[in-house]
Amino acid sequence: MARLPFLVRSLLGWYRRNARKLPWRLTTDPYAIWISEVMLQQTQVRTVIPYWNRWMRRFPSIRSLARAKVSEVLRCWAGLGYYTRARNLQSAARLIVSNHVGNFPRNFGDIIALPGVGRYTAGAICSIAFNQPAPVLDGNVTRVLARIFGITTDPKETRTKGRLWDLAQHLVSHAAKYQKPKTRPCADLNQALMELGATVCTPRQPQCPKCPCRRYCRARKEHRVAEIPAKTVRPKSLHRWAAAFAINRDGRFLVRQRSSGEINAYLWEFPNLETNSPVSKVQSVAHRCLGFRPRSIQPFCVVAHTIMRHRIRLEVFTGTTNGPWTGQGRNARWCTLKQLHQLAFPSAHRKILQALEAKAGPQKPPR
Ligand code: SF4
Repeated sequence: MARLPFLVRSLLGWYRRNARKLPWRLTTDPYAIWISEVMLQQTQVRTVIPYWNRWMRRFPSIRSLARAKVSEVLRCWAGLGYYTRARNLQSAARLIVSNHVGNFPRNFGDIIALPGVGRYTAGAICSIAFNQPAPVLDGNVTRVLARIFGITTDPKETRTKGRLWDLAQHLVSHAAKYQKPKTRPCADLNQALMELGATVCTPRQPQCPKCPCRRYCRARKEHRVAEIPAKTVRPKSLHRWAAAFAINRDGRFLVRQRSSGEINAYLWEFPNLETNSPVSKVQSVAHRCLGFRPRSIQPFCVVAHTIMRHRIRLEVFTGTTNGPWTGQGRNARWCTLKQLHQLAFPSAHRKILQALEAKAGPQKPPR
């Protein structure tokens, strides 16, 4: 650890010179930083920027998020996936209003107690918003630390993960020693690690000659950059099939809302069901799914999507009907394309909607 002071100083200097100008970096508002951190989980910065801007316009404060309708919150989130995160944001906002009179808590223990907040997010909020010496460890930071310290074991293993958290803690605690008026070394150190992983120490072809840590990096010295971090053995993918139906009645499509307690609760979807194989008898599958036989039905598109290790091939059919439909106990509606656009869909069903819109071309107002 003798090199720790040099490493920390190099990272702080590099971050001041190279940090990208991202909208959430222009504020120290913990609410705004929290939203950015949750959106950035498994989503790239360039995708998140418009979502974050829109969210902050629509819900500029904890109180505005707490009192919003869940459907509005989901609509604002639609397209980012992982809808539980949006629901957790609102539950946490409501808790902050009831337990902390609407002020974002400053204490790590209070922050990590909020719904959907784990050790990484709590550490990011404490350090970035409040400049506290709390560590962060996401995929980028894991890669950077594993390479600098030459850690060759699987970072998903408990012991290795513990060691990486300890290193992250040492670094940010050391950074706190450089506190001077108008500086935020804990915030900068953690963001430097994240930024380095995102822009320089990338998974493939890291740019070591440009790296501020190159003199201290064991992976580089030992020519083991490509081997570190160790690859986690992934479980085998499971292939699944499903069918969805975009049924049109007088220019309106049938959609239904998922109930509370289900996966993707409160989101809308085209009627669908899982099949054991590619669809062969489409009319009978449609009947099982819809409870009626459409007047006409034809293949429309295929949406391939992945949930964890499940690779799902969703075959989409369009059809027409002139009959009524009760919705089989679910909250179902017949909506124009314009009305569908206002609803929150999971990403696979949003792709179906986009394909329908592309096929329909510019819209005439419904009669
Ligand atoms: S020297 Fe290369 S491998 Fe080491 S931290 Fe920097 S970019 Fe990553």
